[in-house]
Amino acid sequence: MLKINNLNKTYPNGTQALKNVSLTLENGMFGLLGPNGAGKSSLMRTIATLQMADTGSIHFDDIDVFKQPEELRKVLGYLPQDFGVYPKVSAEMMLNHIAKVKGITNAAERKGYVADLLNKVNLYKFRNRNLGDYSGGMRQRFGIAQALIGNPKLIIVDEPTAGLDPLERNRFHNLLSELGENAVVILSTHIVDDVTNLCKNMAVFAQGEILVQGNPQELSDTLNNKVFRKSIEKGTLETYNESHTVLSNYLRGGSLNINIFSDENPGDDFEPINNNLEDFYFYTINQKQA
Ligand code: ADP
Repeated sequence: MLKINNLNKTYPNGTQALKNVSLTLENGMFGLLGPNGAGKSSLMRTIATLQMADTGSIHFDDIDVFKQPEELRKVLGYLPQDFGVYPKVSAEMMLNHIAKVKGITNAAERKGYVADLLNKVNLYKFRNRNLGDYSGGMRQRFGIAQALIGNPKLIIVDEPTAGLDPLERNRFHNLLSELGENAVVILSTHIVDDVTNLCKNMAVFAQGEILVQGNPQELSDTLNNKVFRKSIEKGTLETYNESHTVLSNYLRGGSLNINIFSDENPGDDFEPINNNLEDFYFYTINQKQA
């Protein structure tokens, strides 16, 4: 179990990236959803022992993360946002190298271990290909493979699906949810659908604060019968913004639509819709800004 208690972090330039962040996470996939600049990476890096918080504590089972960072690193798998690859090195060589660094010293054992990993992420066929020649999806799966070395009990995945085509994204998701069966997996993302599809629990994070947390479906259901849609004339959005709680605007069949929050049916050609987690997410962010 991962217990995060009252983390605060202000960067030297005065940006307060974490404000009293507290969370408790159990095995399974947890979605941390928030806009760019919310502080997600700051939180991920802090949990991954790459930077310190100013105050607060993190415990993973018996490990006091700030006091025993090297203990945490033994059970941690980290897939960072900007996972750089060495373009001229093959996947097999790279994994072999990381496994060695992580303490698998016996060469024969390591070879078998790396082969298993490559199979797991469906890259065995491409093991000798240089990482620089991998597609976006292959690179992500390689990222997962390197994060899995050492059988981690805590896995941190920071904004993973950028640049993946739908098929690659599906594969990546299946792999992630398998991992969640035996580990705490934190998925940090601004893509609402990923959280809907993958996570049993989630938090909405904005301006360095946890705004709300719970089960995605249950959170989404709190807005049932309170979200309405209307197709509007381009150029009238501002008027609606002034008179209604507009959650989102988007094109649908080429015309501009808005979703609004309202306790009562607002009439005026608004129609009730089957609301989803995205409406809830925008509502939560909207309330914070109000
Ligand atoms: P997210 O991952 O949700 O996009 P970040 O944690 O990257 O958010 O950033 C949170 C805030 O902290 C932003 O305002 C960002 O500009 C700022 N920030 C992030 N890293 C640093 C840093 N090393 N120094 C100063 N400010 C930073």
